[in-house]
Amino acid sequence: MRAPPPAAAAFDAAVVGSGPNGLAAAVALAQAGRKVVVYEASETIGGSARTLPLTLPGFRHDVCSAIHPMAKGSPFLSTLPLAEHGLTWIDPPATVAHPLDGQPAVLQYRELDRTAETLGADRDRYAGIVGPFVAGWSALSRDGMAPVGGIPSRPVLMARFGLHAMVPATTLGRTIFRDERTRAWWGGFAAHSCLPLDRSPSAAIGLMLLLAGHGVGWPFPRGGAQAIPDALASLLRSLGGEIRTGVHITDLEQIETDGPVLFQTSPPAVAEICGDALPERYRRRLQAFRWGPGIFKVDWALSQPIPWADPTVGRAGTVHLGGDLDSLARSERAPWQGRVDERPFVLVCQPGAFDERRAPAGRSTAWGYIHVPNGDRQDHTAIVEAAVERSAPGFRDCILARHVMTATDFAVHNDNYVGGDVNGGANDLDQLFTRPVARLDPYSTPNPRLFLCSASTPPGGGVHGMAGWYAAQSALGRPLRPPEAA
Ligand SMILES: Cc1cc2nc3c(=O)[nH]c(=O)nc-3n(C[C@H](O)[C@H](O)[C@H](O)COP(=O)(O)OP(=O)(O)OC[C@H]3O[C@@H](n4cnc5c(N)ncnc54)[C@H](O)[C@@H]3O)c2cc1C
Repeated sequence: MRAPPPAAAAFDAAVVGSGPNGLAAAVALAQAGRKVVVYEASETIGGSARTLPLTLPGFRHDVCSAIHPMAKGSPFLSTLPLAEHGLTWIDPPATVAHPLDGQPAVLQYRELDRTAETLGADRDRYAGIVGPFVAGWSALSRDGMAPVGGIPSRPVLMARFGLHAMVPATTLGRTIFRDERTRAWWGGFAAHSCLPLDRSPSAAIGLMLLLAGHGVGWPFPRGGAQAIPDALASLLRSLGGEIRTGVHITDLEQIETDGPVLFQTSPPAVAEICGDALPERYRRRLQAFRWGPGIFKVDWALSQPIPWADPTVGRAGTVHLGGDLDSLARSERAPWQGRVDERPFVLVCQPGAFDERRAPAGRSTAWGYIHVPNGDRQDHTAIVEAAVERSAPGFRDCILARHVMTATDFAVHNDNYVGGDVNGGANDLDQLFTRPVARLDPYSTPNPRLFLCSASTPPGGGVHGMAGWYAAQSALGRPLRPPEAA
């Protein structure tokens, strides 16, 4: 096994990749007094949390992530003084809306009671089941976003959560809800798992997101997702860290430290970059990592906010389209079978309706995406726009310009999106908790100087920085415990 070369040891530690996890890792190391350098292949920082003028002058679009319950509720990011570095949150009046043909839309509000009131026959069951988890949200989010193996701070609550969460989303929806409207609404949360809804742990991912809606909301950063990495980078620089953009790391020789190196790259890229600094058997396991479906996304510059047929849908930052629970289940099975359903689940985000910095006065922005087979090259604009038009007649007339990204475009945009998978790998039971290789400390590697910190390590995809936090703890030789609450 080759040791990484002791290149000019200008830094105590290095991080490869400036996405939310890489920057969180760098901040945690800098807080521990290490002089850190971050290398980023692109000319700008942020990884999947970037905001760019993709369409017309004056319109700003989130290229990837836009909705940030996990960032606002992150046990690590929430301890940082990011407001002092320019991050402010916008909370739309409702978190999620689920329009249904010919019926009122179902909405989630931050307030549990207000949400329960909209759920008809399921009102009391919803409040009874979800209430204790919402009350314990802070502990649940800390335990739920930690790597497996630790002792939960609220074991009874966590066990109760597990009973509900470790079944397929379709089973949970049909067991606890009576009303088809509520079941459909629940299916929208679970569809974020990017798994067939009749497979575990689709319910676990859906439940965490639903509870986050009550616990912290589903906010947007003012001005765009880019505000999150920008604030982290500003904090890092204030702690003495440096960031080098336009540096694509392909070899350990490029890295200017003889201290720990944390890779926020995909597992196969780690194997390639590190070569025989890692044992061949471990590299083979990194290369065998499995990927989930890709994403097809359309960004719109709009002449006005989306004209939803049910105006209550305009209160929500995020809108789930795709009909009832059976239709959603059919849609989310399709990408795993190499196809796209004719009426897919469409995730719509409408930040421009709430944030004046996204578009010129009176105008708006929104995006919509669907799950597609990994590596898909097709343009699915027509079915995405048909889905929005169905719930918002006249929508097409509001489109001033659009920007389209296929799954393969995402893979080119960010090396970590292998085949367009934006979750850092398939979220199935075999991989979600033990990614990318089953080890007691999944952030460590057989080489004591090399660590992993991307979304391909626990707790997986999303902008939360927790993989970065835990990888930094591992590199500092500390136990893998959640950070102290702020
Ligand atoms: C369309 C879309 C919508 C999404 N929506 C949301 C959402 O609303 N909310 C949410 O929480 N999450 C969302 N996500 C997922 C989320 O953005 C990612 O899971 C998360 O950003 C992963 O973070 P990360 O820090 O591990 O890596 P990334 O953010 O992917 O960053 C990886 C960085 O490493 C760099 N890099 C890779 N290899 C190298 C190398 N060899 N040398 C130098 N640099 C390298 C890349 O250029 C990139 O900048 C979305 C993703 C997409 C694509």
